[in-house]
Amino acid sequence: MHNQDQPLIFEVSKQGRIGYSLPEMDVPELDLNGLLPVGYVREEEPNLPEVSELDIMRHYTALSTRNHGVDSGFYPLGSCTMKYNPKINENVARYSGFAHIHPLQDESSVQGALALMYDLQEHLIEITGMDEVTLQPAAGAHGEWTGLMMIRAFHETNNDFKRTKVIVPDSAHGTNPASATVAGFETVTVKSNEHGLVDLEDLRRVVGEDTAALMLTNPNTLGLFEEDILEMAEIVHGAGGKLYYDGANLNAVMSKARPGDMGFDVVHLNLHKTFTGPHGGGGPGSGPVGVKADLIPYLPKPIVTKRGDEYVFDYDRPQSIGRVKPFYGNFGINVRAYTYIRSMGPDGLKAVTEYAVLNANYMMRRLQPHFDLPFDRHCKHEFVLSGRRQKKLGVRTLDIAKRLLDFNYHPPTIYFPLNVEECIMIEPTETESKETLDGFIDTMIQIAKEAEENPEIVQEAPHTTVVGRLDETMAARKPVLRYRPE
Ligand SMILES: *Cc1c(COP(=O)(O)O)cnc(C)c1O
Repeated sequence: MHNQDQPLIFEVSKQGRIGYSLPEMDVPELDLNGLLPVGYVREEEPNLPEVSELDIMRHYTALSTRNHGVDSGFYPLGSCTMKYNPKINENVARYSGFAHIHPLQDESSVQGALALMYDLQEHLIEITGMDEVTLQPAAGAHGEWTGLMMIRAFHETNNDFKRTKVIVPDSAHGTNPASATVAGFETVTVKSNEHGLVDLEDLRRVVGEDTAALMLTNPNTLGLFEEDILEMAEIVHGAGGKLYYDGANLNAVMSKARPGDMGFDVVHLNLHKTFTGPHGGGGPGSGPVGVKADLIPYLPKPIVTKRGDEYVFDYDRPQSIGRVKPFYGNFGINVRAYTYIRSMGPDGLKAVTEYAVLNANYMMRRLQPHFDLPFDRHCKHEFVLSGRRQKKLGVRTLDIAKRLLDFNYHPPTIYFPLNVEECIMIEPTETESKETLDGFIDTMIQIAKEAEENPEIVQEAPHTTVVGRLDETMAARKPVLRYRPE
């Protein structure tokens, strides 16, 4: 299907070929000299490809078929919730009243947009069990940082400057320790026990007068529900610390349990995961943060509030940590999330949760005979397998992931969480049919058989993709910023 040798757009270029036609100009050409500061004016023509409109359309259409996205195939990426992106969300986000407004417009002229933001805040407050929500943060990690800065402001307002440490479990998402560091804290790790849950004894050991907060994901990144959460909240609160909920993935608890009722003080949500915003290469994120009452004064400003019948931005928040993003958050993603919440309704969201958990458990139990299952208990929206049995045959988890590409599956998350050897982390999500789930399971079983009978075919995969194994880090270390024909 793919053209293996698709030329670069620069190779298609023919001098003088153009992709548009316009009538002759009937007004004088503007002299740009003097309009721009001298240092910013180009001295040479830029080196741009010269192609027809058809050339460029075909070029990008062909490239797009080489990409793997939720709309082109199953994408069971654990922890990242690559769920489907309802097309109705896209329609609503394109309404001109949402898409064509300007952030500097007067509030009176964008009442509909403000109403949507206000209503979305209210829905997220209800879903999380928090007391107030900001829509500003642009992604999950940004929400984590925002939440931690509020916790910091809270402690400092109480003249409590000794709280320099944030506790995170050894299974935590990498952004947790990163955000804690950027927010000026030191990270302390708490161990998981043999059931994959936070070890309470170890938690008691690390909690103290220097604890600013415990950051927790529940269900945790192994897909397991932290059953001792109420006791953990007591331990942390008892020592004067706050509880931070990493709610990037709410697919297993939405409409079933609320972080606010589990004792959490701050929560961020990834609207681009649980609430169906296209993400990864597909679009920007949105990481709203909810807080309990005692942290409300520190929320970023402004917050949308209602005065009488009017929606306004409230800037009068003297203890606010300030603005964390220009303007008001990634509004387009918020429109999509709002559309999703309203089109599903509370019962719909509950069904999402139930199917997400059912699908994950179904898959886990069918794969259990063929791979090692480090934690043999009911999972929530995702589960982890270990490829250590296959490793003994010379086939590593990375090889299994590459082999899946031959069957048009985006591989699951691998080598995360770090506390599981040769980890394979699978999140099927709620919207896949039983046929799709079975197709993936059968392929995984086939690959497990290949590992036993014909390991080379797995070790040398992928065989059918446009490119083979890539250097995993070179793109980050040596990015190609432009193409210069010699
Ligand atoms: C995705 C994710 C994050 C980070 O969210 P970004 O939007 O990528 O910054 C944090 N924690 C968990 C558990 C996640 O899955």
